Amino acid sequence: MKKETMCVQAGYTPRNGEARILPIYQSTTFKYDSSEQMGRLFDLEESGYFYTRLQNPTNDAVAAKIAALEGGVGAMLTSSGQAANFYALFNICEAGDHIVSSAQIYGGTFNLLNVTLRKLGIETTFVSVDASEEEIAAAFKPNTKALFGETISNPSINVLDIEKFAKVAHEHGVPLIVDNTFATPINCRPFEWGADIVTHSTTKYMDGHAMTVGGVIVDSGNFDWTKHADRFPGLTTPDESYHGITYTEKFGRLAYITKATSQLMRDLGSIQSPHNAFLINIGLETLHLRMPRHCSNALTVAKWLECNEKVAWVNYCDLPSSKYYELSKKYMPNGSCGVMSFGLKGTREDAERFMDNLKLISIVTHVADARSCVLHPASHTHRQLTDEQLVEAGVAPDLIRLSVGIENVDDIIADLDQAMNA
Ligand SMILES: *Cc1c(COP(=O)(O)O)cnc(C)c1O
Repeated sequence: MKKETMCVQAGYTPRNGEARILPIYQSTTFKYDSSEQMGRLFDLEESGYFYTRLQNPTNDAVAAKIAALEGGVGAMLTSSGQAANFYALFNICEAGDHIVSSAQIYGGTFNLLNVTLRKLGIETTFVSVDASEEEIAAAFKPNTKALFGETISNPSINVLDIEKFAKVAHEHGVPLIVDNTFATPINCRPFEWGADIVTHSTTKYMDGHAMTVGGVIVDSGNFDWTKHADRFPGLTTPDESYHGITYTEKFGRLAYITKATSQLMRDLGSIQSPHNAFLINIGLETLHLRMPRHCSNALTVAKWLECNEKVAWVNYCDLPSSKYYELSKKYMPNGSCGVMSFGLKGTREDAERFMDNLKLISIVTHVADARSCVLHPASHTHRQLTDEQLVEAGVAPDLIRLSVGIENVDDIIADLDQAMNA
């Protein structure tokens, strides 16, 4: 199947007489005829459903669709994108371990790595997304277990050189984990460039309608854990909490994602509700139609902003003036995403006044859904900071983050124009 067909059809194939639309299995539990049969499920001897925290047919169908879209061997849905990134890392890291991460990542993920994982004894060294191979390699330590980055970073819109990061990761015997939220598999499939694990906040384009917070981890099945067995004992030695199962021996290419489900999800929770998975599936059915429209609208808006005399600067990786243009064209030849940032000539107050005058484009703490929206970090997420502190934090006081929706682009531009004039 091609991507477009997968968006609509992958993951769920009804048998004779069954519901055509993926049903919501709104059930915590599943019934069996014999106690022995149920026991075999608990021993992971047979696959089947017994409790929704571990597996649910609705969730599995949606996970299978996303795995197909990314070209992976398996996937696991989580309750949020934050949970997905936490589990993706915690599945192979424990106290005393170390991670190398791009510094240009989503603020929530930065806090996860920089604050919360440190409390659990897992240290992170941050490198610039623009770092050379040598600079990335220099951050590695003997206890490093993963390299992490975002295909397109939120909100700075830097593009990760996936091939370069994958090369350095593999030279050090660790997987590259890529958060592919902004690009989506429609625009980029990181596994094709050497990434080993992909994560998403499905809350953004995959859902696409701002209905449902959710996340997913996808396993390429390509990383050879047994080749680096000493580094990944959780996968390559017996799991005492599962009758001594060794995930790599029993599940081969599915070792990583099986451990994430049967150990982390079992112990930590954070499951996606089946009802939410159903909603995400509806979003996925049109992802291949929405993404090209987000990208073409965004490029038109970015070019308009760049030519506007009231605009000081525009940051969008598909503009030829962007320093990420070449990387964006390499990894996302059909377009990157609908998110950009720009600054108006004038003060912080001018930026606020501009935003207050927008009519079609709404002010929300969200990005990447069908409706165009804006956020002004200086007056919202970072409002406690002075102009000087903002610059130190890498957020220009005039920075406006714009997420371009799938409305008619003329209407989006007309709204920007009237608000600037006002
Ligand atoms: C939003 C976002 C997250 C966090 O996802 P939630 O679903 O809000 O928990 C992680 N990574 C990126 C790139 C995001 O944009």
